[in-house]
Parts: sequence; structure tokens; C-alpha cells
Amino acid sequence: MKHLIDQIPDSEPLFKAAASEFYSSMEPYLEEAALKQLLEPERIHIFKVNWLDRHGVIQTNTGYRVQHSSALGPYKGGLRFDKSVNLDMMKFLAFEQTLKNALTHLPLGGAKGGSDFDPSDKTKAEINNFIHSFIDQSYSLFGPNKDVPAGDLGVGQEEIALMAKYHQNLTGEFDGTFTGKPISMGGVLGRQEATGYGLIYILMHLLDDLETDLTDKRVVVSGCGNVGLHAAEKVVEMGAILVGISDKQGYLQDEEGLDIAYIKDKRLNEKLSLKEIDGKKFSEGSVFDVPCDIALPCATQNELTSDHLRRLAQQGCMIIAEGANRPLTQEAVDILKELDVYYVPGKAANAGGVAVSGLEMQQNAQKAVFSFEDVDLKLQEIMALIYQEIKEASLVLDNPYHFVKGANYVAYQRILEVYNLQRLV
Ligand code: GLU
Repeated sequence: MKHLIDQIPDSEPLFKAAASEFYSSMEPYLEEAALKQLLEPERIHIFKVNWLDRHGVIQTNTGYRVQHSSALGPYKGGLRFDKSVNLDMMKFLAFEQTLKNALTHLPLGGAKGGSDFDPSDKTKAEINNFIHSFIDQSYSLFGPNKDVPAGDLGVGQEEIALMAKYHQNLTGEFDGTFTGKPISMGGVLGRQEATGYGLIYILMHLLDDLETDLTDKRVVVSGCGNVGLHAAEKVVEMGAILVGISDKQGYLQDEEGLDIAYIKDKRLNEKLSLKEIDGKKFSEGSVFDVPCDIALPCATQNELTSDHLRRLAQQGCMIIAEGANRPLTQEAVDILKELDVYYVPGKAANAGGVAVSGLEMQQNAQKAVFSFEDVDLKLQEIMALIYQEIKEASLVLDNPYHFVKGANYVAYQRILEVYNLQRLV
């Protein structure tokens, strides 16, 4: 069966790494036909996006939507706008999304999309032009029962608002095709917080099993986007000390604890970088050099290397829980077994975001408005269930607390059930 992994070309290193990790953790339980079906995306869309820049010159980017699996529901997953986006990255993220969405128990298939467009150095008008054209080229792929995109790196609430608007212009329907919308456009309360809060909820279940809690635990968070800021906010609310947090330029560090409310306000409302917020506490380099008890990588893939991991473990770090999608390099994941560190992979730990997107879809379908409290409670239930199931699976598989195995197993079984039901007889 390994030939199915070997067949993935080396020009797709991210997808190959995700697929081989899945394969090696699940080998004894896999059926060849099902693995083949699971690895192959159902549909891959690649399209050209022409847009007008500030000088009146036409620029061209590539748009992607990998509709990986509709076994469990309509395609669901974010759109990423970043210069690193390519087909390999989209295939890897769509595959992971399929497994992640399966863990939520919600009727969601898996997809991912985006473009190699870099919004960081663009004007608002340029971003608007780009998004208009992106939706012109892709709108027919999307619909509330077909494929429901959301945000990801480079795509926040403002971008989603534009996409939903252009989509509505073309279809004439206000139908909740996008999630992560502003509240006034049908967005659900709690979606912005969901991924970060969900990460902390699952972390608390693990700590509970280890007969401890967050009180006075030293925590580092990488990434100052939607996920990192909300994870940091929640972890401090629960009694931990935020000793480090990073953005693209470097990190802030304080053994006594950083003031997350202040940082969040400056980041979100004044759009300041961490260096601009507090130059004295700022260093260049990796936040994973800061000694801590718990590390929460919430920025992007492959940001935490085996060297970081060794150092973290030596300095007493006991848990790594992923807010981002595959922030640990493959080498780092491979050495985990030598180290005394609990590891909760992103497909389980950051599933809160897409889970609350699922609640936003329910809210839109019912033409209802859910309260923040109801959404947050539901999020807590979903994260508790994910934790319970992946832990139990790890016990059944004789690898207690091996959450990679546990998560892959639970997701695979859920999807396999559908494959078996849909077998032609
Ligand atoms: N991009 C997020 C993720 O990786 C959210 C996807 C969604 O809400 O559809 O899970």
C-alpha cells in the first residue's frame, strides 16, 4: 500500500509529508481502496485571476480550490492569500481539512483554496480589485450546500465580507455561502474567537487528565493573527502566564507575563506590529527560544523545527498543541517519540474554528441569530468530544495519548463508514 504514498511526486512535499504521516500512523488499519479514495482530491480547480493594480497595470495571479472530499457534507475550508500558495500547499491543507472536519461530528466535507496573491503590500483598492476578480472566476464553485469557503492566512473578516458581497451580486442570493462573515452580514458571534478558544478548551482537557491546570503555567504563543491572539487571551483568562508571543518580525517576552488585552487592542485596533507595541521587550528570532511549560504554535506550517522542539523539551516544556495547520516540521514530529512532550496535532486542536463555521452555516440555514454564550458552549462541547474520542482511540490503539494516531483513526473511521455505505453492490 506504501506505493500510494511513493507515487506522490517529490514536487508536492507538503502533501507527501501529510499523506505519509497519515499512512505511517494508520498502516495496520488501512484498506488500500479506501486510502486511495481518501488521498485523491475529488476535484481540483485552478484559475487565472487578473486584476488592476494602483498604476492601472493588469496583474495576474493563480487561484485554487481543492475540493478534497464531500463524503461527510458540502466542501468546507478556508481560502489563503499568501505568496507561498501553490497546488502542493492547497492539496495538503485540503487533505488535513477533510480529517479535521470529520472530527467535529458536523456534516462538513473538506476543501481548501486561495491564491499566490500577497495582500501584505497592497492597497485596499488593489485587494478589492483582486477579490472581485477572484470571485468572478470562482463563484460557480461555491454555494451553501455545495462548497462553503472561509478565511485563513491573509483572509480575514473584511475580505470575507467582500467575497460574500460579490458572490451575492452574481447569484442574487443571500444564502450564507461564506463563513467568518461580519455579524451584520449573517456571521455568527464567536467565530473570530473560536479557533483560539477551542485550542485552549482542548488543552484544558489534557491538563485535567494530567491532574493539573493552567494556573501559573508559562505559555508561549506564536502568531499574532486571529488564532494566536484569541488563544493567548483565553489562556491568560484561565490563569496561565503568557511569557512570549510572536509576529512575523520577532517576539515579545516577559517572564512576569505579557498584557494580552493591551497587545490585542494595539494589534487589532491600531494595526501595530509587536515591535511597535513594546520595543523594549521585543527580540528578533524565534519565540520558541523562550522557556515555557506549554507551547502553542499558531502561525503557519513548518515554523517549529526539531531544534526548537529539543530545546523546548530540555527547558521543561510539557505540551505542544497546534493552533496552526502543521506548524511542526516533519523532523520535529518524528522526534516527538524520543521526548517527554504531549502533542495535540492541529487537526484536532484547531478544529474549533471550522466547527463554529459549521454553526454559522446552521444559523444561516435557519435564518436565526445565535448568542455568543450558546456558540461558546457548543464549541466547548465539540472540543470535549474531540478530545474524548481521540484519547479513547489512542488507548484502543495501545498508544495512550498518541493524539496523532487517535485523531487520524477517528477521522478515518468516520469517513470509511461512508465509503462502505456507498459501495456499489
Ligand atoms: N481556515 C480555518 C481552518 O484551517 C477555518 C476553515 C473554516 O472555517 O471553514 O480550519
